[in-house]
Amino acid sequence: MLKNPWETPEGKAIWKDSKGNPSEAKYWEWLRGSLRRLWSDYPLRKEWKKRQLRPLTKEEKESKLFHPSTKNVGQCSYCMQWFAGSKLECDHKVESEGCTSKETAESFLWHCGGLTGDDFRLACKPCHKTRSYQQRTGGSFEEAHIAKQAIAIQKVKGGDVKWLEARDVLPGKNAKIRKQQVIDKLKEETSGEPN
Ligand SMILES: [Zn+2]
Repeated sequence: MLKNPWETPEGKAIWKDSKGNPSEAKYWEWLRGSLRRLWSDYPLRKEWKKRQLRPLTKEEKESKLFHPSTKNVGQCSYCMQWFAGSKLECDHKVESEGCTSKETAESFLWHCGGLTGDDFRLACKPCHKTRSYQQRTGGSFEEAHIAKQAIAIQKVKGGDVKWLEARDVLPGKNAKIRKQQVIDKLKEETSGEPN
């Protein structure tokens, strides 16, 4: 077995936590970041995405639903809407196990630079973000979608109060309560029935 890089004198000088102590986690963080760059540069991903797109139809061009420079469009696998190619991303069907050990690092290497079209699906940017949020927090895609909407509403100062008042809900006294109120209301609106 090779010596672990983070345990060497050089490694101890490089990978340190905020207190200056040697940190194995910092090593994995560095490796993860480097492998992610491999993914953004993965040529097969780009070629696959290109092949998922189709030219804009005459009707779509006339509809002005897309930017005038749009030539090709593709469909998001989550919301099923059509988007210009530049608004779509390549999403992994199976999430990675992370990169925190030699074993997971090896599978993360293939995750970033060794998978094929069968492992991918197209996602619009908002749905892709929702999917990442869902992977971090667990739960369903729908729940993640609602939680992200609630976060966006609360990003604007006083936004949640206005939003709730517009729906005849008496806003709760703190942000945490109001967030839950927004989530409940969004769920109600999505399902079409009060819960
Ligand atoms: Zn979408």
